[in-house]
Amino acid sequence: MKLDELNLEVDYFQFDEKFYEKVDATPLNNPFLISYSKSVCDLINLDYKECEKEDFVKFINGEKVLKGSIPFSMAYAGHQFGYFVPQLGDGRAINLGYINNWHLQTKGSGLTKYSRQGDGRAVLRSSIREYIISEAMHALGIPTTRALALIGSSHKVYRDYLEVETGAIVLRVSPSWIRIGTFEFFSRGKNPENNLRQLANYVINQSYPHLKNDEDKYEKMYFELVDKSAKLLAQWMAYGFQHGVINTDNFSTAALTIDYGPFAFMDHFSKHSVCNHTDMEGRYSYNNQPEIARWNLEILAYSLGKICSFQKLISYLKTFMSKQQEEYLKIMNQRLGLDIDLSDDGNLDLMIDLLEALEESKIDYNCFFYEVTKLENFDNISSILDIAVFRSPLENWFEKYKQLIKIQKQDFFKMKELMKKTNPKFVIKNYMLQEAIDVAKQGDFKLVNDLLKIAQNPFSEHKEFERYAKPTPLEYSNIKLSCSS
Ligand code: AMP
Ligand code: MG
Repeated sequence: MKLDELNLEVDYFQFDEKFYEKVDATPLNNPFLISYSKSVCDLINLDYKECEKEDFVKFINGEKVLKGSIPFSMAYAGHQFGYFVPQLGDGRAINLGYINNWHLQTKGSGLTKYSRQGDGRAVLRSSIREYIISEAMHALGIPTTRALALIGSSHKVYRDYLEVETGAIVLRVSPSWIRIGTFEFFSRGKNPENNLRQLANYVINQSYPHLKNDEDKYEKMYFELVDKSAKLLAQWMAYGFQHGVINTDNFSTAALTIDYGPFAFMDHFSKHSVCNHTDMEGRYSYNNQPEIARWNLEILAYSLGKICSFQKLISYLKTFMSKQQEEYLKIMNQRLGLDIDLSDDGNLDLMIDLLEALEESKIDYNCFFYEVTKLENFDNISSILDIAVFRSPLENWFEKYKQLIKIQKQDFFKMKELMKKTNPKFVIKNYMLQEAIDVAKQGDFKLVNDLLKIAQNPFSEHKEFERYAKPTPLEYSNIKLSCSS
């Protein structure tokens, strides 16, 4: 379809006006296209050629409003680093409406009622990061919001650095933009039940439509969210993904990875790794993530429990950690090519030993799995030892791994097939994004587009980017990033 043929619908104005603001974008100066994603165009049936036209940039910049679109921002609340903030909201994101159940939103479009002290903008570096990582996550099968396009500008934006930065906008699309924080906002004040019911019905329609006519739909929606979140967290953990700011306002009620900030795919394995520079206490450290997700879901229960049985919600929530662990073990087994009984104690021990060995050997986490996938046999593991700083922890672990493979009579070729499906050659790490950002700041966007290709096809070869399949040099490994974006 042509851009002008897209017909957007808006379904948010059914709520009371205190829950949103109709607001127009404030365009950036001298906007230009940096990149667009064909596979995301397909989701909304947009012709690729349309993205090359001037009107497309105008559309993302808010200078052109599509048919049916009424731009608005949403109000939400949230627990930030454990503390309740009663009023947050889309401070720089503007919703445009939905098509094919994909809700379009631009991030960095200027001030809204919810901007607080912010300027409503997003800088180029963080927009490049969000744009690429959304697609990388999707390609790994990890539920996430998507990114259709990225525009840059000459608009000056000031953050906590000496250098003046420029504003950019990512056109994000998602099946849902509702967060736990949205429920927290709707549950404020006296007699919030009607508003909460309306919001819960909205979320059910959007993300759990099969529950629409169920008598216990609110409870069941929560149960499904608990299960889906357990799986999401298992995927994050198994691939070494760290979100960095899992506040309740950054936690989706559709169990999607949402609001990318100082995230990281871990470089060398370190279970207490913290990627967010402002996270002094390590609340959102790698290892804490499942417990934080559980905590966030508990916060949701306090809101949702006003319109259904709080007790039932909380007792179901007790299953979260074991479900998360079970899902995690499933993926980790696949990553090691193992097709064995999860409840086997030997299996759990093997995983615990692996994590210890990975940490002690100071090895690049995702490269380790890629190298295991490439082994010709398990008797010569020198290609793996060569990328570790310390060799003996992994040597010892491999003996246990080989033992288990022998007892379980695992077929080597079947193991390789399993591994090939779960161990990508390329995982987008922060140093790669930084390299793309550095050249983008000079006006060269080729690497942004190359990285997008790699992100969308992580299991392919990409011969000219062989270096990105190598371990991150230790001095650039697990570096903390600022929250400012
Ligand atoms: P985050 O943790 O980055 O998702 O953001 C937390 C809250 O701050 C959200 O309500 C954002 O909309 C808001 N926010 C972050 N940066 C800005 C900005 N530059 N201008 C306005 N609001 C912002
Ligand atoms: Mg956020």
